[in-house]
Amino acid sequence: MSDIFTLKRRSSPLLLSQPHAGIEIPASIERRIAEPAKARPDTDWHIDRLYSDMAETLEATVLTARYSRYVIDLNRDPDGVSLYPGQSVTELCPTTLFDNSPLYLGGEEPGEEEIETRRGVFWQPYHDALLEEIDRIKEMHGYVLLYDCHSIRSVLPRFFDGRLPTLNLGTGNGISADPLMMRRVENIASASPYSHALNGRFKGGYITRHYGDPANNIHALQMELAQADYMEEVLPFTYLPAKAEILQPTLQLILETMLDWGRRQPM
Ligand SMILES: [Zn+2]
Repeated sequence: MSDIFTLKRRSSPLLLSQPHAGIEIPASIERRIAEPAKARPDTDWHIDRLYSDMAETLEATVLTARYSRYVIDLNRDPDGVSLYPGQSVTELCPTTLFDNSPLYLGGEEPGEEEIETRRGVFWQPYHDALLEEIDRIKEMHGYVLLYDCHSIRSVLPRFFDGRLPTLNLGTGNGISADPLMMRRVENIASASPYSHALNGRFKGGYITRHYGDPANNIHALQMELAQADYMEEVLPFTYLPAKAEILQPTLQLILETMLDWGRRQPM
């Protein structure tokens, strides 16, 4: 068992990755961060709980980060390459909160050496585990359905205008998953009670783009959810079971559609 992540290993071709679920921050870092950051407002709150029952039902493997994205962002290029060149983004080791306020107390930002250490201690083990699961599932089924679970506040002027659609599907503009599978997934989103976008503001982060490799039977999809549809977006970020129970069938149908598509492929 790792201290860096939680892994629930199961037998279907579906692999759920939850890189921003963590809330732990080592004490040596926590004492250097600004007061507003201590509430971890930019966490993908309750994302493990939201998917937990359907993952079990569908025999999906679930990899969940334990440490906060404030320590290091597991969904960023380890070399610090921007996900969206020219647009406002948070870095591998963020120095600001989503609201653009400073993450660290003055002069306490990590330097190159500390970033390198965090990459080895926190980033690498998560990605080693992810790759091991991809290889295991590929060996078992001949293909992998990687679904990267995310959620974000529905209104964030720094990153996008207005209110975010509920279901934001990202495939790196079509490079990370089979287009016919995505057409079926998008049909489910269109028929759902929720608004959606495919490769809109959120096109899939590093995990989706790096591991998605349709020619090699690895199909990766990022789902960025608007948090307003299952939780309170203000402190203390309360989970709202009644809202979540309305959203979950749509998410489960999307996962089932991916599985059904996979079963019909000649591998
Ligand atoms: Zn996220």
